[in-house]
Amino acid sequence: MAKPLSASKMVEILRAEGLTVHEVRSWRTHNRNSKGAWGPVNGVMIHHTVTKGTEASVNICYNGYSGLPGPLCHGVIDKKGEIHLVGNGRANHAGLGDSDVLRAVINESKLPHDNEADTDGNARFYGFECINLGDGKDPWPEAQKEAIEKVSAAICRHHGWSERSVIGHKEWQPGKTDPRGFTMDGMRKRIAQRLKGGGGGGDTTPDPKPVPKPKYVPFPGSGFFHTGRKSPIITAMGRRLVAEGCGRYEEGPTPEWTEADRRSYAAWQQKLGFKGKDADGIPGKVSWDKLKVPDV
Ligand SMILES: [Zn+2]
Repeated sequence: MAKPLSASKMVEILRAEGLTVHEVRSWRTHNRNSKGAWGPVNGVMIHHTVTKGTEASVNICYNGYSGLPGPLCHGVIDKKGEIHLVGNGRANHAGLGDSDVLRAVINESKLPHDNEADTDGNARFYGFECINLGDGKDPWPEAQKEAIEKVSAAICRHHGWSERSVIGHKEWQPGKTDPRGFTMDGMRKRIAQRLKGGGGGGDTTPDPKPVPKPKYVPFPGSGFFHTGRKSPIITAMGRRLVAEGCGRYEEGPTPEWTEADRRSYAAWQQKLGFKGKDADGIPGKVSWDKLKVPDV
């Protein structure tokens, strides 16, 4: 969960990633904010345009069409791998999608199959439209795929997200097929590679920035916390819970995950205002990030 990037910051981080960025007309104030929420943002969504030609595609994404007013995304990624920013704020790109998918994106866990359209994605996702006919024949030049990787990595790095915060429209909304022509799993691998500091698919970026060591333990995933797990992370977590007045330990905390850890964590979730299943004592990404467990 995060506050959306400002227009200037978006331009800054994309250029810092080595991308060529074009600012289209009044994109900085072009949005659908009068129609609904924008943010908190949880991820990046990749699409294909089903159009050809850079100028025509950028114009459609900026203006939209009758029945679907623009902006239709935040940025268009052309075949040369250049970025055309067309919107800043809420954009008509994601539509209604699956709340279980959104939950998985927030937790950065494995995506379930999208079989519901019950959640407004336009509030939650940055959207990038890639110029491609989507017919399975129109090629995806390496420069364009590299740009998808870079755009996604730049935004994920800024927000402290992993590659799991990047999804395809087809993974969000039942019936959608975009993007078609490469797999999102393959693309996420490239993004992960880039986030680790190396370039992704064969890229050699000049000036690789050293990735600062996180001060806090990144969320290890909900599956990490189970009976029998022993880790110094669990001790560090327990100490933080005690410091927050949520310790439910008779002794400890210790490196081993126990019922006392679960009860303590549930107290923390309740303190944050979570209820029911969201306060079951199994760490989720949102509460974990708020706990700020120091790196051990
Ligand atoms: Zn789409």
